[in-house]
Amino acid sequence: MSIIIQKFGGTSVADSEKILAAARRAIRAQSEGHQVVMVVSAMGKYTDRLIELARQISDDPPDREIDMLLATGEQMSVALMAMAVHSLGHRAISLTGAQIGIITDSIHTKARIRSISTERIRKSLDEGNIVIAAGFQGIDEGADITTLGRGGSDTSAVALAAVLGAEVCEIYTDVDGVYTSDPRVVPTARRLELISYDEMLELATAGAGVMHGRAIEFAKKFAVPIHVRSSFSDGPGTMILREPDTTRQSVCGAAMVKDEARVTVLGLPSDPEAAIAVFRRVADANIALDMIVQNETAEGRTDLSFTVLSENLSKTLRAVDAVAKELGAEGCCCDENVSKISVVGHGMAIRPGVAGTMFRALAEKRIDIQLITTSVIKISVAVARQFAQDALRSVHEAFELQSTMSAVATETPHAPAPKKPGSEELLARLERMEKLIIEDIQLDQSQARVTFLGLPETPGLAARTFDRLAEAGVIVDMIVQGKRRGRRVDISVTVPRAQLASTLDAARDISASFDCRLPVHSPKVAKLSVLGVGMRSHAGVAARIFQSLAAAGIKVEMVSTSEVCVNVVVAARDGEKALSTLRNEFADETL
Ligand code: ASP
Ligand code: MG
Repeated sequence: MSIIIQKFGGTSVADSEKILAAARRAIRAQSEGHQVVMVVSAMGKYTDRLIELARQISDDPPDREIDMLLATGEQMSVALMAMAVHSLGHRAISLTGAQIGIITDSIHTKARIRSISTERIRKSLDEGNIVIAAGFQGIDEGADITTLGRGGSDTSAVALAAVLGAEVCEIYTDVDGVYTSDPRVVPTARRLELISYDEMLELATAGAGVMHGRAIEFAKKFAVPIHVRSSFSDGPGTMILREPDTTRQSVCGAAMVKDEARVTVLGLPSDPEAAIAVFRRVADANIALDMIVQNETAEGRTDLSFTVLSENLSKTLRAVDAVAKELGAEGCCCDENVSKISVVGHGMAIRPGVAGTMFRALAEKRIDIQLITTSVIKISVAVARQFAQDALRSVHEAFELQSTMSAVATETPHAPAPKKPGSEELLARLERMEKLIIEDIQLDQSQARVTFLGLPETPGLAARTFDRLAEAGVIVDMIVQGKRRGRRVDISVTVPRAQLASTLDAARDISASFDCRLPVHSPKVAKLSVLGVGMRSHAGVAARIFQSLAAAGIKVEMVSTSEVCVNVVVAARDGEKALSTLRNEFADETL
């Protein structure tokens, strides 16, 4: 019999009526012939209330006791849910994380799942029960209760779906699906019928907030189809699957991360060891970098910029100031008020002009772009925070995201059910559950690099540049824009080698029109893309890439990062060597 997982978030179990409604939904699915596992969050804002209570008692409560406390929220709601199912005349059993056998490591308040036993759940299901599993919690090897981090019930649900080989993991929430943008900021945002894991991953951490990023990573890793639905209506919701929606236009969503800060190390020696030292120092301070932009300037110096969450800025500056001095960099500056705006979509890899459209939308509002970084399916820019909402709305409008739905098939697509794993496969799955997974490392030697040096930092700069390139018919792949001293910026792009001549013609025009230096270029470069899952939640992936390439004597000319890949550009002659170096470095993590 097919198993389906139904996960109910806090708002979907906020009071007794909602708990009963959720119970009815599970009963309905069971009567349609499925075995049903419900995964339930704590009621409403109960977790917040527990945290507040803890704070009233102590400024610094031990993490072990926080977990002990927070796990009660889910214990309460699973018991009530089981009572609700009983009261409606059906069989149910509630189980805590420990009772199921969700074994985690011992990092309290952000534990990672190590393994899940399915015996008890299967037995209970076979006895005709609806199984009601507490989300968010597990138990470590010493039998202490752990939790998976805020929002962790999504992860519990997807992990259970994976180990049980469930047909689908339904996520019931207070919105009726995944939207093209945050409807609170962009009132014209629309529901998507379908989105791919990669698009969702890029959007989720870009601030879309519908689901816990780690849960999507799990789903992608184990090909669990996710169906995001409203618990208050029977709407079609949004399917999250592997396949991109090819009927759609180039972009599926736009998102904002409001509170970031930009840090730039100026005039770093362009010796690879220097950048590595900076990354290492920041990683040692336990800070995750977001956008990383390294620009090759002339004179054997580079400027390295990155963004971090605002709350990490002072810690970051302490680390970076020190290392910049040691390395003899020219200095270090920061801007504490930036936001990141991203557009995401599989279509941008095949349709030209996406970058130009985004930059023009910002230029029309006279919004200055501070940094640009791209992946195959995402373009992110850093802008001043005061313009962030306006920027998001303008970009959403520029891609006509409010009306893309007309291009989409109306039928809700059905995912093929993954086959039930055999016991060996299951064990292997469990072992890999939380690991960094590298899906592929690709080498592209078909491109050239062009770098514009010292363009004046004015609104409309990027729009003018990329409109001119689009006019010349150039299909731009990677774009990296960094910050320089004195309101000057460098922009590096990669383009197909066959288009180098037309790119350089356009580039000379652009540089002349801004009255600045001639662009520099490499006629042949190698782009390496490390694609995978958990690239950002596992610290130090970028650092490992830099370090292993440096050890092989290979210099990185450009880098761009996103949730699902890190791209680096190196000299063409180093391409093959870089590929084998990276394959070696990530051999243990490669699928
Ligand atoms: N109750 C937990 C929280 O509020 C877990 C969850 O709801 O996913 O973070
Ligand atoms: Mg949640």
